[in-house]
Amino acid sequence: MKTSRIPGFYKMTVDQRQELIKEMHPFSVQEKEAFFSNSPLTIDTADNMIENVIGTFQLPLGLGLNFLINGKDYVIPMAIEEASVVASASHIARIVRQAGGFTTEATERVMIGQIQVVGCSDFHAAKEAILIEKENIIMAANAAYPSIVARGGGVVDLEVRILNEALDSKYGQMLIVHLYINTVDAMGANIINTMVESVAPLVEEITEAKVYLRILSNYADRSLARAHCVIPTELLETGDFSGEEVRDGVIHAFEFADSDPYRAVTHNKGIMNGIDPVVIATGNDWRAVEAGAHAYAAKSGAYRSMTIWSKDEAGNLVGELELPMAVGTVGGATKVHPLAKMALNILDIKSARELAQVIVAVGLAQNLGALKALVTDGIQKGHMALHSRSVAIAAGATGEMVDIVAKELVETKQIRVGKAIELVEKYTK
Ligand code: NDP
Repeated sequence: MKTSRIPGFYKMTVDQRQELIKEMHPFSVQEKEAFFSNSPLTIDTADNMIENVIGTFQLPLGLGLNFLINGKDYVIPMAIEEASVVASASHIARIVRQAGGFTTEATERVMIGQIQVVGCSDFHAAKEAILIEKENIIMAANAAYPSIVARGGGVVDLEVRILNEALDSKYGQMLIVHLYINTVDAMGANIINTMVESVAPLVEEITEAKVYLRILSNYADRSLARAHCVIPTELLETGDFSGEEVRDGVIHAFEFADSDPYRAVTHNKGIMNGIDPVVIATGNDWRAVEAGAHAYAAKSGAYRSMTIWSKDEAGNLVGELELPMAVGTVGGATKVHPLAKMALNILDIKSARELAQVIVAVGLAQNLGALKALVTDGIQKGHMALHSRSVAIAAGATGEMVDIVAKELVETKQIRVGKAIELVEKYTK
């Protein structure tokens, strides 16, 4: 079985890390060449992906280690420019692993396609007419994308909503048809959009009104993934802080975020620090995931914490995270970007539901990493030490100079570009 515990990985050179990963994973010779080349995403591929291409934009790709999720070890590729995220996720994953690991689950992967109907002479009669024709509309939608039905997916249900019924409503009434579509292992945007566009004329005929928008909803609240962890306090001890102090601090931090949007936005940004890098590394649409996650954080009507932290009867710290997670293991860029292919291979993921669960586990770990630092030493101590190398590079340091300048920035407790420029000048004289 593959392990995600690789002691000393952070001390290895990049070459050593690459060799180890090549040994651990059954890449073909061509894949090894493509994945570990200087430019895995070729300009030709990039030119076929988007418009007006002039180059490719690279991000560091690191590995989140120590993750044990539902008893399975995961090495987690993370593409991100921010220092300390990968280290923090791996640190918390190591703690949680000692507590038995994360447990996760996911609902069925049902995505939503919306059809907007305006100008009905009687909106309630139009709604009834749609419901009477429900099975015909579902059949027509499935006929527009038979291959997803053959894969075990397709439209599973249909609902109709009337918006702006209140007399003092600011906008006119509209009928919204929701198609609930199982997109199997695809994120599904193109599948859903094809289906809703194809049935729009039928909806117009049934309602005798006009259809405008036909598009998926990124509020994927029927594609939820949940992660959970239970951590004994002795695993939370940090420096002079007892495990109980850390646990209580984390719970107070959660209560702060859950009560105050100013804090909740930053708290949730820290969760997305873990989620986005995995979404990006696997070639998924991070804007879709971001939009859905933040909307879900506001589902009560107020913007709140995405995570919940509490203590159980035994005094353990208990963490939970539930989010819409519309990601795919096929479609989009997952099979186009060579590094997305590599990431999915390293993850050893079998389905989109499994990927969604891994991603929320990383989000939960990342949140605890940030909160644990905030309630103990503060975020700057660990973060700035790791950030010092970027500061040195921003000041013009190259090669061995990067380490020399970064070390001195940490020692002098002045991790800022102005100081780094002084040091670069001093050492290059
Ligand atoms: P694709 O259009 O690439 O479709 C995925 C295809 O993969 C399916 O149609 C299916 O085709 C094939 N497939 C192979 N194996 C499976 C499997 N096990 N499960 C499901 N499908 C399988 O991708 P998506 O429809 O997922 O679209 C995602 C892209 O759409 C992303 O790039 C996203 O950025 C973009 N997008 C997002 C929007 C939004 O979020 N609002 C709007 C528009 C686009 P077949 O059965 O024929 O083999």
